[in-house]
Amino acid sequence: MDVLCESAPNDDDCGTRYSSSSSEDDERRDQGVAMTYMTLDSILNDNSRMFEFLRSFGVLANKYVCATCRKPMSCVKVATTRCGDGLMWRCAKDKVWRSVRKGTWFEKSKIKLKSIVLLTYCFCMRKSVQSTCRITGLSDKTVVDWFLSCREICSALMKKRGKIGGPGVVVEFGESSFGSNKYDKGRWMAEVWVWGAVVCGKDHGELVLNVVEKRDARTLQWFIEEHVENGTVIYSDKWDSYEDAEEFDLQSFAADHNYQFRNKVTGTMERYWKEVKRVLEGGKRRRSGLQSHLDEYIWRESVFVHGCAFHSFMQSVGALYVPRVED
Ligand SMILES: [Zn+2]
Repeated sequence: MDVLCESAPNDDDCGTRYSSSSSEDDERRDQGVAMTYMTLDSILNDNSRMFEFLRSFGVLANKYVCATCRKPMSCVKVATTRCGDGLMWRCAKDKVWRSVRKGTWFEKSKIKLKSIVLLTYCFCMRKSVQSTCRITGLSDKTVVDWFLSCREICSALMKKRGKIGGPGVVVEFGESSFGSNKYDKGRWMAEVWVWGAVVCGKDHGELVLNVVEKRDARTLQWFIEEHVENGTVIYSDKWDSYEDAEEFDLQSFAADHNYQFRNKVTGTMERYWKEVKRVLEGGKRRRSGLQSHLDEYIWRESVFVHGCAFHSFMQSVGALYVPRVED
């Protein structure tokens, strides 16, 4: 089916979800070729269109097989009093019924499908929790919970993405502390260290950000092996901090993986630390949630140049949660 992508209208409803002062960069990100709320709303108000729309991303199944006769079931309209989604799978012969969300990302949620799609749209468009409550009519807690589910998608995508760098590619490594040991309103509960690595010379980065428990040589080895391809040229001004650790020989580790460690920086990672902190500084956050916010940041970076964040997100959901087609 055709889904029109249009320029987003001016949004007077809210600021960004994070900081109260939205930068021009944020606006550029979200207004590129974003699907408008009006377009989405018209789709969601027509059940058949909504289902076609969701199937087009692969987040709902195109078919479902009857558990009794093993033949494809039909998708039929039902009263919303019977099923809030308004459509169900049915085998007329065997009187077998299944929810259209069975075996999909939506299965565990009790919220109406239309509301879930709207919530997800709000997440992608950086709406605040408050404005999402107003748009969807859902409670604070419901919105916060669903945004967390969306960030879990971002984290899953980051895990699937693979390593950055490659033979001859320059990657810069750096570290930065987030939060404070003083428990002030609007600050991280305690100091947390985050390590990062980014491919140099790209506008919108291939980026890795990882909360680390320890800043030691063993963690450094893990971080680089986990995230950076063999053969990469790695810049940092932190090598000295790890070089004299007894259990870790930096040079032989580099030789084993064809890494080339250089004692220099370009400022790329430093610029990212500033930007990440600006984006994340708005809310009071728990240490346990920091990684998912970092993953969300990286996901937004990765879709920066790919048009509509919502379309990209839904396609990712379809790829991560391939709908089951039988019980
Ligand atoms: Zn059947």
